[in-house]
Amino acid sequence: MKKENLRLLTTALALLGGHEMSVDLEKVRIYLEGERARLFRELNILEDHQSHRIGNYSDNTEHKVGRRIELEHQILSNQRAQQQLMEVDHALKRLYEGSYGLCESCSEPIPSARLEAIPQATLCINCKTKEEKSQVNCDRIRSLHQ
Ligand SMILES: [Zn+2]
Repeated sequence: MKKENLRLLTTALALLGGHEMSVDLEKVRIYLEGERARLFRELNILEDHQSHRIGNYSDNTEHKVGRRIELEHQILSNQRAQQQLMEVDHALKRLYEGSYGLCESCSEPIPSARLEAIPQATLCINCKTKEEKSQVNCDRIRSLHQ
């Protein structure tokens, strides 16, 4: 997206929300795209590392245990990186669509302080807290049934 378009978008958003948009969307875009590239690199490195490790087979049990722990750790950080990548992609999509900065759940503008702290946030604090609470409840129900 061209710079002028982003500026127009900022104005449109400010008008839409009836509030002054104090978040610099161009800065957000640069940040998010940087994060996206970083996470892509991280995932590629992790995948390379994994296939290399599996290929480097050893019969030593101590090595096997160590390798399994390492692999589990890698899978976890891989999942985390994938999750982060999804969030960043999602925020970028909303930025391009022009809905960036509005809560996905209640459509209220997300406070700029929150966006500055977490540029990939797509929920306001209220909705985020609600979502986390319902997730905790789901987990609790699930654990009760186990
Ligand atoms: Zn909300």
